[in-house]
Amino acid sequence: MCDSDRLDSILLAYGASKVDNFLDADVFILNTCSVRMQSEQKIFSYLGKIEEFKQQNSDIKIIVMGCMAERLGYDIKKRFKSVDLVVGTKDIDNGISKIIDLCCLKNSFKKINSNVKLRSKIVSHITIMKGCNNYCSYCIVPFVRGIEKSFDYNTIINKCSLVVENGVKEIILLGQNVNSYKYRNVDFSLLLKNVASIKNLERIRFLTNHPKDLNDNLIDVIAKNSKMCSHIHLPMQSASNKILQLMNRKYTYEYYSYLIKKLRFAVPDISITTDIIVGFPGETDKDFEYTLNAVKTIRFGGLYVFKYSPRPNTKAFEMSDNVSTVEKKRRHAIILEESNKISAEIVSKMVGSKHQVLVENIGNGFMEARTKSGRKVFIKINKEYCGKILNVVIKEAKVNSLFGDVID
Ligand code: SF4
Repeated sequence: MCDSDRLDSILLAYGASKVDNFLDADVFILNTCSVRMQSEQKIFSYLGKIEEFKQQNSDIKIIVMGCMAERLGYDIKKRFKSVDLVVGTKDIDNGISKIIDLCCLKNSFKKINSNVKLRSKIVSHITIMKGCNNYCSYCIVPFVRGIEKSFDYNTIINKCSLVVENGVKEIILLGQNVNSYKYRNVDFSLLLKNVASIKNLERIRFLTNHPKDLNDNLIDVIAKNSKMCSHIHLPMQSASNKILQLMNRKYTYEYYSYLIKKLRFAVPDISITTDIIVGFPGETDKDFEYTLNAVKTIRFGGLYVFKYSPRPNTKAFEMSDNVSTVEKKRRHAIILEESNKISAEIVSKMVGSKHQVLVENIGNGFMEARTKSGRKVFIKINKEYCGKILNVVIKEAKVNSLFGDVID
């Protein structure tokens, strides 16, 4: 997400513009993910389509970047001859501008618009660390993103101050394991406190967390600092201790639920979202039942559920992938159904309640705003609302969206 944002800004500064229609593009940039086999398959199928298009439009350029480019490198070019450049995550870290120069992209934009300025945004994503040392047994990230590296504290503060000076109201701090940030004597909770002291910044979020690094200082900052949003994404993955151990997650379900209790005690209205993997090697019906019961008990504000797929180089790749595809689908559907039921119950209770929202965007027929707990609220169109914090009352609720009226 952050690489896409950085690339977006640089290309816009070169005078490029985004197109909505495939047929209008001069340059195709595919920023890829390698975490799941399915994501890679989607990219292959998309590349097949663009390749056909290039046969009739030989001037277009195709660039594949991101984790998949890092993992497969020039094998991508061997399979898709029309790909012009493969840019891995480590190349991205060496500077996106350099890549643009390397690829002579500046000359590729036919529809130059010299008036294009960097987009003024309401929400800005700032990466504060990269890589991961946790080596969860199913995960390819440490292999394609490298070991953990926390970025210079002063550089982060300067970046945050700069985007706020340019009109940003909310900062989302990003990292594969954001809450393990440590630069010299500055840990994540201290970084958050100092980002929060930036004048005119309204809100702070962060993504994504590892339960083992969620300490009391961090909970304290979330609870006591009014700029902190009341939302945390805390991947659980499974509620079976046997599976958690096989996943090398370094916590038990009991510890995970202890953290949930602490968070809810400190921040009663906090929304906790999570990730779950079903069908991990060795996951029995009983193990799955533990996870389903945890979903029912914890009542997450939302969750992402994934069917396990083996990734090369990982420890789990050597394990027998012994849960059938049909069974993975069944477990996936059960978790999703339960989660949707819980979400519907949570949002229906919100009808009639009042919330502060930050208006982020002009959408299709509505302004798009967000509550501190991360729920999207659609309100009536008024361009002047953009970037404002408003009080709204919720009038209607759907699973993934709320509709509200502005109140004075
Ligand atoms: S903590 Fe996250 S990024 Fe790191 S190895 Fe585990 S799942 Fe992958």
